Amino acid sequence: MADRARLAALPKVDEVLRRPELEASALPRWALADATRAAIDERRRAILDGREGGVEVASEDVLARARALLRPSLRPVINATGVVLHTNLGRAPLAGPALARLVEVARGYSNLEYVVDEKARGSRHDHLQELLVRLCGAEAAAVVNNNAAAVMLALAALASGREVIVSRGELIEIGGSFRVPDVMRQSGAVLVEVGTTNKTHRRDYAAAIGPATGLLMKVHRSNFAVVGFTAEVSTEELAELGRERGLPVMVDLGSGALIDPGGFGLPPEPTVSSHVAAGAQLVTFSGDKLLGGPQAGVLVGSAAVIERVKKHPLMRALRPDKLTLAALEATLELYRDGRAMGEVPALRMLAARPEELRARAEALVAAAGAGEVVEVASAVGGGALPTAAPASFAVALARPRRGADDLERALREGDPPVIARIAGDRLLVDVRTVADSELPALARAIAAAMA
Ligand SMILES: *Cc1c(COP(=O)(O)O)cnc(C)c1O
Repeated sequence: MADRARLAALPKVDEVLRRPELEASALPRWALADATRAAIDERRRAILDGREGGVEVASEDVLARARALLRPSLRPVINATGVVLHTNLGRAPLAGPALARLVEVARGYSNLEYVVDEKARGSRHDHLQELLVRLCGAEAAAVVNNNAAAVMLALAALASGREVIVSRGELIEIGGSFRVPDVMRQSGAVLVEVGTTNKTHRRDYAAAIGPATGLLMKVHRSNFAVVGFTAEVSTEELAELGRERGLPVMVDLGSGALIDPGGFGLPPEPTVSSHVAAGAQLVTFSGDKLLGGPQAGVLVGSAAVIERVKKHPLMRALRPDKLTLAALEATLELYRDGRAMGEVPALRMLAARPEELRARAEALVAAAGAGEVVEVASAVGGGALPTAAPASFAVALARPRRGADDLERALREGDPPVIARIAGDRLLVDVRTVADSELPALARAIAAAMA
């Protein structure tokens, strides 16, 4: 057939939509129509480009396209990277009780800004106060949208138009373009760098203090390590200097461990409460890093400093929503009740014993009927514990004559997508970050990709 005749023979959209198998599919009309148009368009382009192929549009093709259009944009994936706090994959999975609370609070109305006992208007900031005070040993607490917001708000409230002294070795960049000097500029505070990349002493801070100084700040190096000839000033020393000179001290902790990961085989990390005890007037940290809760920024510190932070006009723009507060409260309750190590998924994954991981990898190989169990090293991720590489186990997959890229794509394009990493000519499925409930779906995905 000549191109002209073939173009004229392409089916009409309405004809395709009237096919019984499409009508029986119960898929929304708009999706079927868009999918049909796309399928016909593809045939038309093939003809115009002089490619092979008929003029038929298969119903199966239309239905597959329509289903793809209907798939939510934000959806679950299986994290087989072994990176526990993977920022691109949503950081921390929530604990069961946090999910339950979130659903309970979101389903109907809540006392978000209402004091039931007093029949009076309340503040959303009061709900987590007691828990955070108890867990961090601080006088007061506030919660905002994320830790970047906490830092920005704290600097604006405590040091706008004033100088903030920071060690040059702590002017960090966190993934997703959080740069301490940029955040500082946006907050209206003036950065004063002291010391050198590898060494900063107490005398460096002391010499930089002047009439315009408003704050002494420490930033935790959460995503890199400095080794060798190094010196930094501890929170304790800085707090002492602050007391002598009448200046508040703030620590941006980032990862914000409530339990020292050194206790379960990872590099030790000072807890939030240890920085509070060391005398910092303000400590900020993330809700979804080592804490293992929802995305949030937590500020704990002295009553006076937290009051200033809460009263700042930016607070209204950065305030947390009820879903965050619900999930964070339930997560913090697990810490209060001594249940966090057993029930917070991020902590469980980070603390998983090698024997447990090997058994999970073996179960996966048996269920998938493919792969080989190998020992690997996982990462913590999320800008936390950068030097940690806990021993883990993975299922290594390889197919004769097909590259690891091919396998990687097959798993990633499946439903649910499986995200794994390539090492040489093999694909590694690290089981540290795979929940037991995900094993059947993962086994099916592997079996399909290997077929
Ligand atoms: C992660 C991190 C931040 C940013 O926290 P988000 O919760 O991702 O906004 C800020 N400071 C430090 C030191 C961090 O590690």
